[in-house]
Amino acid sequence: MDVMSWIKLNVDTTHNKIDVIVKFIFSRNINETFSFGLGNMLEVYDISCNQFPCTWETKDDLELPFRLGLQQISVDLPMECNVIELRYSGKVNGWSTNIGPDCVMLNYYSAWYPIFLTKTRIKFNVEIDGLHGFQLVNSTYDEDKRVWIYGTTCFDCNILALANGGLTVRTMNDVTIYIHTGPSFDRDNEFEIARIAEEIIKFFSTSLFQTKITKTFNLVIGVTSMIEGETIGYCRNNLIVMGSIEVVNSEVARLFAHEMAHFWCHGADSSTWEDWLNETFAEHSALLFIEDKYGEEAYNNRIRYHNEEADAAPAIRTPDGRRPHGVHSKGTVMIQNLRKLYGRDKVFELIRIFEVLNPKTTDQFVTEVRNKFGDEISNYIFKHIT
Ligand SMILES: [Zn+2]
Repeated sequence: MDVMSWIKLNVDTTHNKIDVIVKFIFSRNINETFSFGLGNMLEVYDISCNQFPCTWETKDDLELPFRLGLQQISVDLPMECNVIELRYSGKVNGWSTNIGPDCVMLNYYSAWYPIFLTKTRIKFNVEIDGLHGFQLVNSTYDEDKRVWIYGTTCFDCNILALANGGLTVRTMNDVTIYIHTGPSFDRDNEFEIARIAEEIIKFFSTSLFQTKITKTFNLVIGVTSMIEGETIGYCRNNLIVMGSIEVVNSEVARLFAHEMAHFWCHGADSSTWEDWLNETFAEHSALLFIEDKYGEEAYNNRIRYHNEEADAAPAIRTPDGRRPHGVHSKGTVMIQNLRKLYGRDKVFELIRIFEVLNPKTTDQFVTEVRNKFGDEISNYIFKHIT
């Protein structure tokens, strides 16, 4: 089923709150119940279907990967309908999320908009009010309505707004990067990030990956709190978002390289345990880069972190197919152990196998590895998944 959404988002940067009106138009009628996830600090105050008021039930125990706190809203539909309208307001929290006087970051992880519980293709049309004086990434300003307009057919919806920030543009090997930074961001750091970005692209496109990419993308360095002491970020088709950065060191470069590596290392189902493929090979790509640029110590520090995380994490393949916590580290350590046994070049080759794998599943990966290197390595990988 296809869904069109019309979202009116009002951002109150003084009280760190949002007020939202959402209208969904479904490509066919739905009946009985309509359920979705929403950030659990948001309060729903009105729901209607084809303009008839609806009742709904709220449960606070919804758990989905990548979210900190979700509520499940189940709407009783009094009849078959194809238009649902919702109104809600409140605060948001989650990974890479922020509402402040000069930086607003709202995304899939904040669950600031209804998250469908079934696979549904949604077109987002968002009108954003309250952000005059900000610059919005991937949005245009409507002078007449005095609102920002954002639209996408991606699976998610990222509102990224910075006031009084910086913008640096760099082009390298057919890749152009727009670097957007927050107001307190040091200009020298901005240029340093741009320099590192060039080095990463050069390393990836000439020494590691086989596929040439032509791309223009936005890098947004905003203001978000760290989760569990880790600087985090995320990557979409033409977008990389990173949290606050004070010093540009090997860890920042590693994170940046990891997110850029996802341009090549993606495609395995990221909502299941199979996400270990995307994450492990993006991470090893980043590790090869920082080893090259910063040397063994930076490399080993990160491996040490993964060893600790992996020890505490469950097996990669979960009985119910869910994405386990620690999926990054478990796979990274496994490939690191293979590197110890078979050498650094093997890591390059394994990354390249995943890069062009089709379909991007663990079974297919193990099969390709067996075809190329024989049973020993493929059995090793297979054994360490479970
Ligand atoms: Zn990643």
